[in-house]
Amino acid sequence: MSTPTSPPSTPAGMHAVVYGGSIAGLIAAGVLSRRFERVTLVERDRFEDGPQARKGVPQAQHAHSLLTRGLDILGDVFPGISEDLKAAGGLIVDMTEHHAWCMGGVWLPRGRIGLDMTCQSRPLLEWVIRRRLQALPNVRVVDGREVTGFLTSPDKARVTGIRLQAPGGGPEETLEAHLVADASGRGSRAPQWLEALGYPRVEETHIHVDVRYATRLYHRPRNFEPGWEILSLSPRLPEQPRVGTIQRIEGDRWLVMLGGWLGDGPSTTDDADFLEFARGLPQPHLYEALRNAEPYGPIHHYRFSHNQRRHYERMPRFPEGLTVVGDAFCSFNPIYGQGMTTGALQAQALDECLRQGLDGVAQRYRRQVGQLLSTPWTMATSGDLRFPQVEGKRPPGYALTNWYGDRFQQLATHDLEALRTFMRVMHMVESPAALGSPRMLLKVLTTRSPPSSQAHAPVPMAIPRNQAA
Ligand SMILES: Cc1cc2nc3c(=O)[nH]c(=O)nc-3n(C[C@H](O)[C@H](O)[C@H](O)COP(=O)(O)OP(=O)(O)OC[C@H]3O[C@@H](n4cnc5c(N)ncnc54)[C@H](O)[C@@H]3O)c2cc1C
Repeated sequence: MSTPTSPPSTPAGMHAVVYGGSIAGLIAAGVLSRRFERVTLVERDRFEDGPQARKGVPQAQHAHSLLTRGLDILGDVFPGISEDLKAAGGLIVDMTEHHAWCMGGVWLPRGRIGLDMTCQSRPLLEWVIRRRLQALPNVRVVDGREVTGFLTSPDKARVTGIRLQAPGGGPEETLEAHLVADASGRGSRAPQWLEALGYPRVEETHIHVDVRYATRLYHRPRNFEPGWEILSLSPRLPEQPRVGTIQRIEGDRWLVMLGGWLGDGPSTTDDADFLEFARGLPQPHLYEALRNAEPYGPIHHYRFSHNQRRHYERMPRFPEGLTVVGDAFCSFNPIYGQGMTTGALQAQALDECLRQGLDGVAQRYRRQVGQLLSTPWTMATSGDLRFPQVEGKRPPGYALTNWYGDRFQQLATHDLEALRTFMRVMHMVESPAALGSPRMLLKVLTTRSPPSSQAHAPVPMAIPRNQAA
């Protein structure tokens, strides 16, 4: 990533437009502000000056964890942003020391492994990033404007700007740009607009999972010191399709998420139904923590039908001047918490592609992103494909990979080195190849792992730092 003082790689006077002012758009605009003289961010919603949920991001009521790699990239683009987040009430926690995690029926050890993740509401995260972007002198934020199509060169080989208007109608305006970044989320209409311009329709891969989320805020009980900031009960797939987490967030509140695959999840806004679902999780700890806690607001639901990957990298023709970032390119089952980090990785890829200048950037970028998406896509969908009901192509060696992954996971429940490797891969700071290094392979094949914990086994305590190898 370039530093704030490195010269722009595009000639003077260059203007970039990003549309979609959510996480991917904000980070992309931050990156572009270092490479272009002017950047305009266009968002359909009106922004409040504060951490407010808004219509264009309905998922914002639900838990959003930023993985270590995402936090690192965010810190590169907006130096010191972790401090802003903490000052606003968010927490930065160690992934295992502060996180009690029962994975597939076994509690993970609680030794510090040096991987930070954030705990805050999604509106707070977005607001903290937006404030930093708005403070940049060469960035203009235009809210309350919907992008309705592209401007192009006469031969349609280049996107030269956008059309926009107030949501719901009004006079059309235009905005010219040397580069346009679509960050309008999974409902992006770029595929249709490109088709109308004479380009082939982008191929899409969908993997249907029908994941249900139900989320509610609670006051953190004052007389309850559980020794964790996050509690996660993750199932062993596919036998147990239910998941639950409690995450401490700003305002000394708990954000409680319950959900499941294949249509399983609390389906009503009824208190008793929510608690009953929590009681049905394989371990009692989340229910026990919750049953004396006081709810703070309504139960919010979200239904995520399918993983969606748009293969822009495969299009035989694609216009110059256009890039696609974030969920508009690829959106994953949110249970794996990869979306924002992958959006940040794409913004980083855009920065790298711009190092070689503006010429050909659209082609370089879509190919690079096509490659970088393979890892998070495989990580998310290989879990989903464990359900026999989930349709989709199982890659060659899928059964063997799952067997090895299960053995590795078992090893990680009692071996801190394996746990650290596992978490570094999950947090995208290390390649999945690290799981198969000769040292790890030997350990996986020769170590006998203990049996699963009893359902009522107590939550393990954090290992003191001087003992966590
Ligand atoms: C229930 C749920 C939980 C999740 N949990 C996590 C998690 O724990 N960790 C994680 O990393 N990710 C999580 N995600 C994924 C995460 O929300 C997204 O990956 C992330 O928001 C980045 O998306 P985005 O910025 O590309 O698009 P979005 O967040 O969908 O935002 C799109 C933006 O574009 C605007 N827009 C749309 N059309 C137009 C237009 N025509 N003109 C102008 N503006 C427009 C919208 O108003 C909106 O602001 C979760 C998702 C869901 C559904």
